[in-house]
Amino acid sequence: MDLYKHIRKEDREIYRAVVGEEKRQKEGLELIPSENYVSRAVKEAMASSLTNKYSEGYPGRRYYGGQEFTDKVEALAIERAKKLFGAAYANVQPLGGANANIAMYFALLQPGDTILGMDLSHGGHLTHGHPVTYLTKIFNFQRYKMKNIETGEIDYDDMRRVAKKIKPKIILAGFSAYPRELNYKKFVSIAREVGALAVMDIAHIAGLIAGKAAKNPFDDGFDVMTTTTHKTLRGPRGGMILVHKDEEIAKKIDKAVFPGFQGGPHMHQIAAKAVAFGEALRPSFKKYAKQIIANTKAMEKVFKKHAARMITGGSDNHLILLDVWTSFGISGGEAEKLLDRAGITLNKNAIADDTRKPMDPSGIRFGTPALTTRGFKEKEAAQVAEIMIEVLTKRDEAAVKRAKQEIKKLALSHPIPESFR
Ligand SMILES: *Cc1c(COP(=O)(O)O)cnc(C)c1O
Repeated sequence: MDLYKHIRKEDREIYRAVVGEEKRQKEGLELIPSENYVSRAVKEAMASSLTNKYSEGYPGRRYYGGQEFTDKVEALAIERAKKLFGAAYANVQPLGGANANIAMYFALLQPGDTILGMDLSHGGHLTHGHPVTYLTKIFNFQRYKMKNIETGEIDYDDMRRVAKKIKPKIILAGFSAYPRELNYKKFVSIAREVGALAVMDIAHIAGLIAGKAAKNPFDDGFDVMTTTTHKTLRGPRGGMILVHKDEEIAKKIDKAVFPGFQGGPHMHQIAAKAVAFGEALRPSFKKYAKQIIANTKAMEKVFKKHAARMITGGSDNHLILLDVWTSFGISGGEAEKLLDRAGITLNKNAIADDTRKPMDPSGIRFGTPALTTRGFKEKEAAQVAEIMIEVLTKRDEAAVKRAKQEIKKLALSHPIPESFR
């Protein structure tokens, strides 16, 4: 089946780039923990004529006519999101994870208000108050850190002490480079103590929560969750905001998303979100989420065996942060390039209290969501980890070449499943 026959005819340049990217995704191994393969059904929704429609507003209260089907689509996406995460309210319109966070801040805060969030070098995200974002011109971001980098334990006593002093309006949990589960109860109790809202950005682990392979922060009393839909949740590129119970909060969030920050919702993406949420509600997704973690554990075991240093000592979720500088005497940048040549795609990453520069830090970050979609089990995941060790230790042409052959064999024997191509 030629899915791109029209692009091929009308636009050769884009056609070549699209087909090239598809080939790259098929032949290499994707270990970037924020990436995944979406199903054919999700892609069909994204490619649908819903992209032609303007639907400013929300189901039942739109600014334009002709909303018979878009209302159905968005209502279904909301309904499924609520069920998936145990939320009373969901806004499925944010165009991405950053947009979701921006709308959440403006919904819940006044300019100048304080947010207490995870230090970026300890796993937090750019949108949690990195100085390069405009958010820091408007809000006051303060940080908490890990108490012990070798175990990943957060310094909750310090968090409570700081929170009492600075009186944040939001205590923000969530991360893009932290391999452990947080103590949600502690977050909530500190937030209640200082009169703050407890908000969790579940962008990275939404799929693990939806698949019941990780705890749901709402079960421990969190007020709001923001997320992407395209990482472990395996949906289209996009964002979402979930509200546990409070109707007033939900109203503020709807207003902040539209008309506060966005114009017309991308209804084709929302249809794709609905399809992905439908998939995540099936029993097979629970198996998928569980396997992601089993595969990470299999990789962890190999790195432990070789005494390689993992930040927090290992992983309970879908990602591992490996200190390649201490373990192998090479920088994160060099490791990323070496592994890339062997057909393994991952990213360099700063580690907690990194002594090296951000552009060439001490660590690499990788994970198993995409491999797991390809049908990798513990055995193959361990094999990938062994190949990584071999390349990072030997670092010569022969080792890279051998690794490349083995990776190709693994990729070919575990093709992207038919329904995900
Ligand atoms: C990926 C991520 C985001 C941003 O999502 P985008 O869709 O890239 O805007 C926000 N927060 C966290 C924790 C993330 O991991």
